[in-house]
Amino acid sequence: MSKFCVFCGKPPVDKNREHIIPQWLIKYTGRGKMPMVKVLKDGELKPRISYMNFTMPACEACNEKFSALEGAVKPILLNILADKPVTAREISLLLDWFDKVRLGLRLSMVYLQNGLRQEAPHTFISQRTGLTDRMLIIEKIKPLPDVRLAFPDTDTAYFKSAAQSFQFIIDNYVFTNASAHFLVSPKLGFPHATTIQTVDAPNVMIDHWNRGKERARGPVFGNIYPAQDKIIVYQPIFKPFTDIPLYNNDYVKSHCIDYSNGLGGIFYQRGQTNEVKYLQPDETTVLKPRETTRDIKTILRGAYEVQAQMLARAPRYNTSDALFNEYNNKLMGLHAAEIRDAIAAHR
Ligand SMILES: [Zn+2]
Repeated sequence: MSKFCVFCGKPPVDKNREHIIPQWLIKYTGRGKMPMVKVLKDGELKPRISYMNFTMPACEACNEKFSALEGAVKPILLNILADKPVTAREISLLLDWFDKVRLGLRLSMVYLQNGLRQEAPHTFISQRTGLTDRMLIIEKIKPLPDVRLAFPDTDTAYFKSAAQSFQFIIDNYVFTNASAHFLVSPKLGFPHATTIQTVDAPNVMIDHWNRGKERARGPVFGNIYPAQDKIIVYQPIFKPFTDIPLYNNDYVKSHCIDYSNGLGGIFYQRGQTNEVKYLQPDETTVLKPRETTRDIKTILRGAYEVQAQMLARAPRYNTSDALFNEYNNKLMGLHAAEIRDAIAAHR
């Protein structure tokens, strides 16, 4: 098994270790010695690795580059956990961080539980952070002393293959994060395309482009996940598509944090209303959801429901290789069955 840097995917230069869950967060939630991460041993998944020892190889330079993001996000996350205001720019950084954690978790789950396969370069953190539309569902639960730090739905085969969504419980906050091409652009009024899955997933081929509606309107992600007691944050991202002329209009330009780099602005939805609000880059808001009365089982089920929704939205394989298409579309059917079972187990 060859070593790779979790950020760039190359053999690590001046190797050091990257904590997939940052050390400050482990200390903050008092989870240091808890053996929570399951590892394949003697054909069974067993909790073996403590959070503090949950690390992956990384280059020194890559690690340093991303430690700037860690440093910037720590006070933002602490502000959210303390019900203090944050700006749209800060929320955007927080979403970069969720990309990083989600992709890092995927790589470590594959590495620890399945052994390292041949990984395509685009699956590493550097290439995938801040690349596609994203969403963050924020819920507040009654404090659960035993569950102050957890990522319950990262064991599914679909998460290990695509990592399009995951749930991250920090203290009494539940964050459900999802990211994919054009996940939220259509309902936020941005241009969007229908896509075809290529051999090189998740790099997609564009089928055809649609003009944006130039207004934001919910529900943005469907009704499967009711909005009551939640705050949902959305961000359209068109970094790979900045040369597409459809983006060149006043609506898009006035709803971006960084138009020339394809970084859309922050939109959010609060409570049961379908009203979607836009947060100007330097405007602040308090992302404080009402404490939910739902139990933990229902919260966890929500994570799998988002995974099911992401899978249902994923484009089917349609390459020139019919056998390849058949194999991969069957695999997606198996993923769907596994997620359905997980949802049923949490009823
Ligand atoms: Zn590296």
